[in-house]
Amino acid sequence: MTPDATGGANGHGNPAGAAAVVLGAGTAGLNAALQLARRGLQVTVVESRRLGEGGARWDNGVLDWQYTRAGIAPPTPDEVHDTTGVTRLYGPADAGPVTVQSPTRHADMRRLNDRLVGLCRAEGVAFVDRARDVVVSEVDGRVRALDLVGCDPDDGPSDGQHGDEAGARALHLEADLFVDAAGRHGVLRSQVRDLVQWCPPVARDLLCTASQFMFRVAEVDGARRFLDRRGVRAGDGVTWVGLDGGFSALAVTVQPDLERVSVLTGTIASGSWGSGRTILDRARAENPWIGDPIYGGDGLIPLRRPFARLGAGGVALVGDAACQVFPAHGSGIGTGLMAGAVLAEQVVAHRDPGSDEALWAYQHAFHAEHGGGLAAYDAFRRCSSAIGSDGIRRLFTSGLFTAEMGGSGLDQRWSEPTPAQTVAAARAYLRDPGLARAMVPWLARCAIAARLGAASPAEPDERALRRWDRRVARLVDG
Ligand SMILES: Cc1cc2nc3c(=O)[nH]c(=O)nc-3n(C[C@H](O)[C@H](O)[C@H](O)COP(=O)(O)OP(=O)(O)OC[C@H]3O[C@@H](n4cnc5c(N)ncnc54)[C@H](O)[C@@H]3O)c2cc1C
Repeated sequence: MTPDATGGANGHGNPAGAAAVVLGAGTAGLNAALQLARRGLQVTVVESRRLGEGGARWDNGVLDWQYTRAGIAPPTPDEVHDTTGVTRLYGPADAGPVTVQSPTRHADMRRLNDRLVGLCRAEGVAFVDRARDVVVSEVDGRVRALDLVGCDPDDGPSDGQHGDEAGARALHLEADLFVDAAGRHGVLRSQVRDLVQWCPPVARDLLCTASQFMFRVAEVDGARRFLDRRGVRAGDGVTWVGLDGGFSALAVTVQPDLERVSVLTGTIASGSWGSGRTILDRARAENPWIGDPIYGGDGLIPLRRPFARLGAGGVALVGDAACQVFPAHGSGIGTGLMAGAVLAEQVVAHRDPGSDEALWAYQHAFHAEHGGGLAAYDAFRRCSSAIGSDGIRRLFTSGLFTAEMGGSGLDQRWSEPTPAQTVAAARAYLRDPGLARAMVPWLARCAIAARLGAASPAEPDERALRRWDRRVARLVDG
């Protein structure tokens, strides 16, 4: 920890030696810290929980290509579960199934968090944990310092008690660049005048309420019967989509050891369909062979496309704080990790890494690389909510939902349909013209939105950004 770490950027044309403070030690914040430190910045990470306990504390589906793009090695064997990658997908009323060879790997985010902390430490990143009362100091509209109360985990109390106040002290952290990686609410973005207007609170109908727990298998025969009924093996996933509103999922994966089972649930948080936890409880009641929980958690995930403005006033946003989440299934790990790499690559090209020019370059690079696909899948997610559970069932019964469609969604990359897929879709639409009328306009919007990321203004120009944002909103928001 380096209070009063720097008086400013070094002024020599690259920011090596400049200081950055990252608020939030979840996966997005830790990778932003790692990537900035690797490029020569002096980085301090501030976390409100105990170090090593930040971010997601459950298993998440993640993709190797996203880790690689984010500048870290793909999940290590001790992070991932030994699942097969086969996922059998059903619609409501057991419509389907469609079997997908999924690129997704199921990784324990607690272990990824540990790995990232270790990598950060090796790059000399300093940590402050159990931080609270974070207040920004602005000079001429730019954040220059944070005042907070926190502990240095290296010399803090070691009795393992949460909320222990011993060792806490007032800290004043100055830096050239601040990164808000504090999760869905953000912390700094609401205190920076130029960001507040661009980052409105995310409405509940744009939030996913999700739960993921690893349970013990209480009765192996029950687990075997579940697998046999679905024609799958231990290690394969069985997922129902659309049971609790058009955007909803219940995913059950009996682990290859037949001793544990992962259950993931999610739906829109508007209150119409309960919560991730109520769906989870229902699944357990229907499957009494699922035993006690081992670990897991619940939370709310922003499902809208990323904010148009990703940095201003010396503050960059990454992760859930920026809504950098794949909207079609609320996956924020990979995109949040990649944002850290994009941020670091862009700001180090600037003498002052927290300048408006540097932050704008990050914003444009992120939107150009990922913004179009995320906007397209935002429209796709809204389409799934609009057609509702019955529309999802008809997707399966008409044959419109194919393994290719499922696979590309799981891979989190937008791709235009091939001619063969277009012909197959046209046949499916002939079988269900009502579904075609409901979906085709949305799919056209997706295709256009996918191309708009690169059109985000490359040079600092608020009015041009506003026009671009309105254009995307007109397409995506319906
Ligand atoms: C049940 C569930 C299942 C999910 N499944 C998947 C999945 O399969 N795949 C996937 O990719 N994503 C999944 N997600 C989403 C994913 O977990 C999030 O998108 C991701 O964790 C966001 O990472 P983050 O680092 O941006 O934020 P967070 O993980 O929220 O981390 C933010 C950190 O900031 C800290 N913080 C908050 N306030 C302060 C403060 N004032 N000062 C200092 N620190 C602060 C927090 O303590 C936390 O450690 C799931 C989410 C849930 C809830």
